[in-house]
Amino acid sequence: MARYSIRYVGDPVLRETAKDVTDIDGKLAKIARDMFPVMYDAPGIGLAAPQVGIAKRMFVYDFGDGPGVLINPEIVESDGEWVYEEGCLSVPGLSWEITRPKQIHLVGYDMAGEEVSIEADELESRLYQHEMDHLDGILLLDRLDEETRVEALKTIRELDFASMSKRKRAKIADDLSLP
Ligand code: ZN
Repeated sequence: MARYSIRYVGDPVLRETAKDVTDIDGKLAKIARDMFPVMYDAPGIGLAAPQVGIAKRMFVYDFGDGPGVLINPEIVESDGEWVYEEGCLSVPGLSWEITRPKQIHLVGYDMAGEEVSIEADELESRLYQHEMDHLDGILLLDRLDEETRVEALKTIRELDFASMSKRKRAKIADDLSLP
């Protein structure tokens, strides 16, 4: 059984500004290790620590090139515009077209404590930007225009993810024919 479970929209931890990681140690490694099965099980391609109730600036990901962990990430440069139908494990079954920068250059640390510098484009870039939003307490709902956001919040209130079973959430996603 997974040690962590995904927090859903409405959970206050998703609105916190996560704190910088100060020690890349065995404790942090264990958190990362325990986050991966939650992400793969969902399934998702990225999961930020606040999404499992831990307000630390780190996220795990795997967009098809193998698992990775990014710690204290920062975007140093961004360029272009890209529209993509974006979803979130904390807002399951729903997705919206969101415009964000197409390319980013980000820096941060890996689990070995080494500084990393990544140039990312399209899906990879989108994934990092989405997860980094979580570290600032931002949800994809905040990226919608006012009208779409009001509609989305209404849907979310009606669905009440936090109190429903996993099977019911899957069924709703299915009924809505969304990824
Ligand atoms: Zn998300």
